[in-house]
Amino acid sequence: MKPFKGERIFTPGPVEIPDRIREVLGRQIIHHRTSEFREAFLETRELFKQLVDCKEENFVFFASSGTGAMEAAVLNFFDEGDKVIAVVGGKFGERWAELGKKYRLNVIELEVEWGKSVEPGAVENLLKDNPDCKGVLVQASESSTGVYHDVRALAQVTKDTDALLVVDAITALGVYNMKPHEWGLDVVVGGSQKAFMLPPGLSMLWFSERAKERLTARSYYFNVKEELKKQTDGQTAFTPAIGLILALRESLSILLESGMDAVEERYRLISEGLSKAMDALGLSIFPENPSIAMTTVMPEGVDPEALRKEMLRLGVRVAGGQGKLKGKIFRVSHMGMELLDMPVVLSALEVALNKLGCVKTFGAGVGAYLDTLSTGIKHG
Ligand SMILES: *Cc1c(COP(=O)(O)O)cnc(C)c1O
Repeated sequence: MKPFKGERIFTPGPVEIPDRIREVLGRQIIHHRTSEFREAFLETRELFKQLVDCKEENFVFFASSGTGAMEAAVLNFFDEGDKVIAVVGGKFGERWAELGKKYRLNVIELEVEWGKSVEPGAVENLLKDNPDCKGVLVQASESSTGVYHDVRALAQVTKDTDALLVVDAITALGVYNMKPHEWGLDVVVGGSQKAFMLPPGLSMLWFSERAKERLTARSYYFNVKEELKKQTDGQTAFTPAIGLILALRESLSILLESGMDAVEERYRLISEGLSKAMDALGLSIFPENPSIAMTTVMPEGVDPEALRKEMLRLGVRVAGGQGKLKGKIFRVSHMGMELLDMPVVLSALEVALNKLGCVKTFGAGVGAYLDTLSTGIKHG
């Protein structure tokens, strides 16, 4: 029985868009060379500054998907031949390595087993062996495996070296209460269709003072220096993603009204609840140190693609695996979700498991989730 209001989307991008944001997206376009846009853009920048808890204007927005800002990071902070370490423990880590090689950086790939977090000590040793290393490229939340890499601990390793810590935070910014300046990160990349709960097409690039000193001008479109000049004045070098910037102002207002501590706490509780629920259903969590942006499950003895198909019949879309995890896992995104959205996914999962002959009775997963929730809310 297909749902008549369309499917619910629980994928790690795109994510569902809140009504408050959809209302903004439905408005008539305004021109970008107007005081109306300029004021809205400057206000958006002020809100973003609050989100990243920084006083400096060290960030730009690009009209691109998240990968555009990753490419911008490689192009604006490094030169051809620069030695960098790319932490490769999933599909997005591979993307850092590919981008680096594409622009002729000297990329050392630090292979990490998929599902495991990088050991800061491993990065430290590599940096000792390569004192000429200019950067460490890593994900905060590696969405292909559901792993969280402890970027705060990595910053302790990079801070006294020449290496900039470049963090793909596309599924971390807006999930964790990230404080890039305080934590010692150098470059942070974000994307609109993840925790910002917007349509795709807008990316964010934040950088530290020491990264700013290294800015090059190797890209025409992704030119951070030029954009920074324009954007701090409420303008952009090219036509901005006007609608998305206006909607980002709303998204940032939602996040900041709640407070990033509370946002992180909510995702943490969802994460814990789903983990208990999967356990109750006899399903294993794949990553050793899971990101709270999503729950990544490796079901043994059940085909995750068959599960996904059954869930879709009930109008619930979760994501499958990518790369070498294709057909081995399924992923449930928490981004943009309320505490009580998750019993919807769990109900669909339980029905799917029942259809595939794995569970006979209902409610074990939902019950474990609600149990975690009520305890967590009481103490919170
Ligand atoms: C989604 C995602 C990307 C890619 O972003 P696009 O917007 O698809 O270009 C990169 N890194 C991570 C960790 C992601 O989750």
